[in-house]
Amino acid sequence: MLTCKKSYRDIPFAHRQHLHDGHCALIHGHNWTITLTFACREVDANGFVVDFGKLGYLKDWINKHLDHACLFNEDDTAKDQLLADYGELLKPYILPNCSCEGLAHHLYGKFNPMVREATEGRAWIVAVEIEEDSKNSAAYEQAE
Ligand SMILES: [Zn+2]
Repeated sequence: MLTCKKSYRDIPFAHRQHLHDGHCALIHGHNWTITLTFACREVDANGFVVDFGKLGYLKDWINKHLDHACLFNEDDTAKDQLLADYGELLKPYILPNCSCEGLAHHLYGKFNPMVREATEGRAWIVAVEIEEDSKNSAAYEQAE
């Protein structure tokens, strides 16, 4: 198996962990980095796992859903009132869990089928790493 990595850096968005007993319960932002590890068994005609120049669909998805967004856990009951009162000030994105770990798992589920489709099954994603600013990170890795 061959792999390659692509990073999308300095993507600003906010989140909160509504069950946290500290400051992570407050809405706050980071500049995020999303690093995808692609894999294949057979490279394309150029010798690439994936063509970095043809991943615009991933960047478009990130821009549409995450850039300048506010992420909420789907069971965060405060989000409903917040969005009802201030929805015009927020670009919400709701997922099962918006921790680094939860986002890594969620994006694997979103991006892996997109990569498989774009490469007609030749390539796929084996890992998604999420970095909050420059200090904290987590990853989801798919076991074969
Ligand atoms: Zn945070």
